[in-house]
Amino acid sequence: MRPSSTAVAVDRVRVSTFVVPTDGPESDGTLEWDKTTVVLVETSGGGLTGIGWTYADRAAATLVHERLIGAVEGQDATGIAAIEARMATSVRNDGRPGVASTAMAAVDASLWDLKAKLFGVPLVTLLGARRASVPIYGSGGFTSYSDERLREQLGSWVSDGIRMVKMKVGRDPERDLNRVEVAREAIGEASLFVDANGAYARNQALEFAHAFRTLGVVWFEEPVSSDDLDGLRLLRDRAPGGMDVAAGEYGYDPHYFRRMLQAQAVDVLQADASRCGVSGFLGVDALCEAFDVPLSAHCVPALHAHLGCAARRLVHVEYFHDHARIEHLLFDGAPTPRSGALSPDRSRPGLGVDLKRADAARFAA
Ligand SMILES: [Mg+2]
Repeated sequence: MRPSSTAVAVDRVRVSTFVVPTDGPESDGTLEWDKTTVVLVETSGGGLTGIGWTYADRAAATLVHERLIGAVEGQDATGIAAIEARMATSVRNDGRPGVASTAMAAVDASLWDLKAKLFGVPLVTLLGARRASVPIYGSGGFTSYSDERLREQLGSWVSDGIRMVKMKVGRDPERDLNRVEVAREAIGEASLFVDANGAYARNQALEFAHAFRTLGVVWFEEPVSSDDLDGLRLLRDRAPGGMDVAAGEYGYDPHYFRRMLQAQAVDVLQADASRCGVSGFLGVDALCEAFDVPLSAHCVPALHAHLGCAARRLVHVEYFHDHARIEHLLFDGAPTPRSGALSPDRSRPGLGVDLKRADAARFAA
């Protein structure tokens, strides 16, 4: 426990970049990839070190060096809001949404981890726990997968006790219904989500909404581009009952989320603390409460396990195949699902994860 009210100066910020190849070619409705870049920040103060990370382009590491270290070093590690304001000012001319926000988010997470460690408590305790565990949904089902791989991945999550799973659609619309049927067969009564990553046109998405619903799909993510707020609203109004329209993963600042909520574009709002920051995610949660809309955490399970147990309106965390795999490769203490939920490890301070330096070294970029 940190003694008295003395400020603890941040004495060092370090940044590293890792590039981790995927375990096979991956694609969704609009993108293909074969590797994931992790930008990791270590922030030291008071004899302790906090870690935070983002899944972003390596340009985020450059921005941490060029813009953020000077805004953070020497500041009080427990005064995260004040540091946030300094970081936001320092990236003003770079444009805050996008890469600059991911750089800020990695630093922000490292500060929250450090602050919790300074107080000797898990992050969820520092934030204020509302629940002991948070439900997850298994997320993968890439459009690059064979039917066999699709069946195997989704089916194994359900066998492990995960009750909701998500697959990608939209790359080859002629195959989509068949792929969804394959998934449905593999998962039995489990809840099935689809994510088109904005691949469909409005009318096409509407037609698919009805067809997917007959196969028991209950979640239609980015049926059209998440920038098409009127299109999302149209889908939301005209999709069959029992199907939630969701978007929000590309939100970097509060204005983005407010616009999406004001447009009544989603049934469930998504947010990603590795993009909007831990601090930003808590703000999104407050917006969700004000607009009476549920919140779902996008990817980064080791981070969202803590946030998910503290957020007011959170309904589930996306247990994304790539990130779950990477977090187990790089971090000691990465959480493993039990009975379809993640529970932060309350025996460890902060985020409860430590970088496996020797293992991580082979991915250093
Ligand atoms: Mg998505």
